[in-house]
Amino acid sequence: CGIVGFVGNHQAAPILLDGLSKLEYRGYDSAGLAVRDGSGEIEVVKAKGRLKILSEKTNGGQALAGDCGIGHTRWATHGEPSENNAHPHCSDDGNVVGVHNGIIENYQELKDKLLRKGYQFYSQTDTEVAIKLVDYYYKKYLGTPVDAINHAMVRIRGSYALAVMFKDYPEEIYVARKDSPMILGVENGECFVASDVPAILKYTRNVYYIGNLELARLQKGSITFYNLDGDEIEKEPVEIKWDA
Ligand code: GLU
Repeated sequence: CGIVGFVGNHQAAPILLDGLSKLEYRGYDSAGLAVRDGSGEIEVVKAKGRLKILSEKTNGGQALAGDCGIGHTRWATHGEPSENNAHPHCSDDGNVVGVHNGIIENYQELKDKLLRKGYQFYSQTDTEVAIKLVDYYYKKYLGTPVDAINHAMVRIRGSYALAVMFKDYPEEIYVARKDSPMILGVENGECFVASDVPAILKYTRNVYYIGNLELARLQKGSITFYNLDGDEIEKEPVEIKWDA
């Protein structure tokens, strides 16, 4: 299971596929991408099985335009390995699109709450619950993506590395983690996120480590870190001296 995200000045999909291929050692049963061209629609493509199938489906990523996107390899914990259960998962109106590594322990309780609020579910995953919970708080409090993710983090029990795109915020990726690995990188105004350093080492050696219960907002040219109160926090990049 692995996550890769990119926002910059290059076509995102080939970079995402390349990054995911470096995380293959972590194991997976399906894979998917969400990519967006400027403020256009967020396009989602998924495939069960090898990354090669997703790569063929998208012509090595060339078929997906856009310089902002997230990618995922899934190791199923809730719901069988299938294209439908593969990530990314989306809110009903496509407002929030995200990928997740880890396990949401209280997903059933949260799912019941969202069902009562009128949400529908199309997969068996705990991940779809997390994405829809973020959408729920985004709409309920009319706040920023950081506020919405913070609210969800307070309610979610379990482990997660999350990477999320919001329809209202083009060219941006939001990430959060608790007890699942995730690192960020920045180079020449381009930002990367991944589960592990080898996925992005080809592109940058300047890596930020994001702590438990911290969030980050990736934009072209900058990464901003936040704590669970939504306050900005300062981080220094670490230079990676080893080779993959
Ligand atoms: N629990 C999630 C699922 O089953 C994420 C699994 C993973 O880490 O890939 O879809």
